[in-house]
Amino acid sequence: WRSRNFPWTKKSEANNKKVFGNHSFRPNQREVINATMSGYDVFVLMPTGGGKSLTYQLPALICPGITLVISPLVSLIQDQIMHLLQANIPAAYLSANMEWTEQQEILRELSSDYCKYKLLYVTPEKVAKSEALLRQLEGLYVRELLARIVIDEAHCVSQWGHDFRPDYQSLGILKQKFPNTPVLALTATATTSVKEDVVQALGLVNCIIFRQSFNRPNLWYSVIPKTKKCLEDIDKFIRENHFDECGIIYCLSRKDCEKVAEKLQECGHKVAFYHGSMDPAQRAFVQKQWSKDEINIICATVAFGMGINKPDVRFVIHHSLPKSIEGYHQECGRAGRDGQRSSCVLYYSYSDYIRVKHMISQGAIEQSPFTGYGRANMINSGRILETNTENLLRMVSYCENDVDCRRLLQLAHFGEKFDSATCKKTCDNCLKIKSFIEKDVTETAKQLVELVKLTGQQFSSSHILEVYRGSLNQFVKKHRHETVRLHGAGKHLTKGEASRVLHHLVVEDFLVEDVKKSDIYGSVSSILKVNEAKVRNLFGGQRIILRFPSALKVSKQGNLEV
Ligand code: ADP
Ligand code: ZN
Repeated sequence: WRSRNFPWTKKSEANNKKVFGNHSFRPNQREVINATMSGYDVFVLMPTGGGKSLTYQLPALICPGITLVISPLVSLIQDQIMHLLQANIPAAYLSANMEWTEQQEILRELSSDYCKYKLLYVTPEKVAKSEALLRQLEGLYVRELLARIVIDEAHCVSQWGHDFRPDYQSLGILKQKFPNTPVLALTATATTSVKEDVVQALGLVNCIIFRQSFNRPNLWYSVIPKTKKCLEDIDKFIRENHFDECGIIYCLSRKDCEKVAEKLQECGHKVAFYHGSMDPAQRAFVQKQWSKDEINIICATVAFGMGINKPDVRFVIHHSLPKSIEGYHQECGRAGRDGQRSSCVLYYSYSDYIRVKHMISQGAIEQSPFTGYGRANMINSGRILETNTENLLRMVSYCENDVDCRRLLQLAHFGEKFDSATCKKTCDNCLKIKSFIEKDVTETAKQLVELVKLTGQQFSSSHILEVYRGSLNQFVKKHRHETVRLHGAGKHLTKGEASRVLHHLVVEDFLVEDVKKSDIYGSVSSILKVNEAKVRNLFGGQRIILRFPSALKVSKQGNLEV
């Protein structure tokens, strides 16, 4: 599909330069254009920022007839239309919340033999529910003017995907009604099973699949321990690395968004917040200010992001733990769409995990606009809660890992193998001294489990660590835990080493975090319990081996051994 000898090659290259202002094609763009222009059904997996729009907008421009684009969000559609009109490409959209007369006018235009539009965008529920639209499409099809059908964010078709939207399932009707029109399905996120599900549900025939690496070489990843001084750290980070540049700070709650924005404003940054309880006009205003560079930084919940097309986002900071690696990868993906070097910094603390977990169980987490539609009502039901908790634990284990390449860890999640030598030290773990030692920590693990039992399975992980390392703080004394058999058994370990083992026990399900609201209003406490079934293996001879950076060998206190 790479060939430059297709009948449209000259025209397509000229228009790529002249109309879209690009010097060349990005990976797979030429290939996808050739395949879809040859009339095949095509499925494209391309990371965010890879340049999916061009693969249908360019063909739409140089083919006779109209390209139908199904896209999930009106804000996303409006953004696309604005760009197309700026490039003098006539385009329109239909959505349920438009004036009736306006809709009529567009439908009438479609029935004209000299229809001016090259692209028509619709939301999926339009296809499912609008008889009038289907009639017009039939008319176009009969007159051989329905050039192509594009399904954007195609993973929404699949129930196995993380963004399932029921309206997408009815899109199978398009291939049945218009069997000769090529379909182009696009997405930035799909595991193999989701992809197969999509191909089947849409009824694609002899589909050609383009899939490319999800690695984003221009994004630099790091995870930084989150302390009480986190906001000062963020201010300093931006000041030193990205002053006056554009970025997003993802926060967990609406209140956090406002708090972080306020603090950064005090520090002299041009900043605003964005979350779900602001009214739509307010949100649109903030988004516009940001697009026009009137403000640099947006402190937002994950409600912000879909349809954000700003190419020069130089940093994405996570003020709190994201809910899943998939979500994290997408949120980071909003940085550096122009291919320039950009930073992705995640501030991690184990206590955020407790907080996020609690919010998930309460259904109190703000969803991305996608997820909000299909799933809001199911958020608390058992299986989904379980999936969410599992996803979150994977995220914790990503953060706790200070040995393996961040890219390798993320890409493994999408089933992609990655040679960490290709990272070229663009993540924090690769940047560190690369040698590490493997330690058998089984004895430490057993002692920690035993200590949880000895103290009655009623205490938090940080308290268990205090007791284990021999603390005599007030809380320890209050519960007389200095008299417990294993008090101080881990005093030869650094705090980091001991907590790494304990957190590993949680991630691997030997210990279970029970989230509880404490007496003090609003604050959350958690207690550790023992998962007897798993722990039996541990005491039955299973070994636990962890990797530690060899730098740990010379800790300040001279504590070398685990
Ligand atoms: P996606 O939909 O895959 O996330 P977009 O289609 O929105 O990505 O493209 C991301 C950015 O890359 C846009 O700003 C677009 O103008 C730019 N872009 C796309 N193709 C090219 C190209 N061949 N050369 C340079 N820039 C491109
Ligand atoms: Zn790396």
